Amino acid sequence: MPYTNYTEKLMTRAALKLTGRPVTFRLRDPIVDGAQGSAQKDLAGRNVIDISPWLLDHYGKFVRIFCHELAHVALGHVDTDLGTDITVKPGSIAWSLKGQTFHSMTTIETATEALTQKWLKLYKPIAPYFGHGVNTNLEAFLLAVIYHEE
Ligand SMILES: [Zn+2]
Repeated sequence: MPYTNYTEKLMTRAALKLTGRPVTFRLRDPIVDGAQGSAQKDLAGRNVIDISPWLLDHYGKFVRIFCHELAHVALGHVDTDLGTDITVKPGSIAWSLKGQTFHSMTTIETATEALTQKWLKLYKPIAPYFGHGVNTNLEAFLLAVIYHEE
């Protein structure tokens, strides 16, 4: 899928709608080794989400990771992040060094996945109605998030 400044603007607006918080996106492999997406605070306290660029060729996977990382932000999981140096190379932080035990990881991920599925069930079916004149399924999905009133 083509990814333009417009796509990135839509992602930022959709993120604000879903989480109530400003989020910066980077289309690059996450700093956490082996992850397809990650959400963290940078050292200046900004919410930053990384998404692997290869996911752009997989609409379903892309929106799932997009919503999953935003669910972490919406649920406040990133609020306790003391700040990460996000200028380090992709994959340079080992998963185990995120400081979460397996149990708390499971609890956090279960809640995150529940919110992710709620959003996907709400927005994916109506995305085609927002798709007129847009370049990609992803942009249609993002417009559905931005403009749909529950
Ligand atoms: Zn997660």
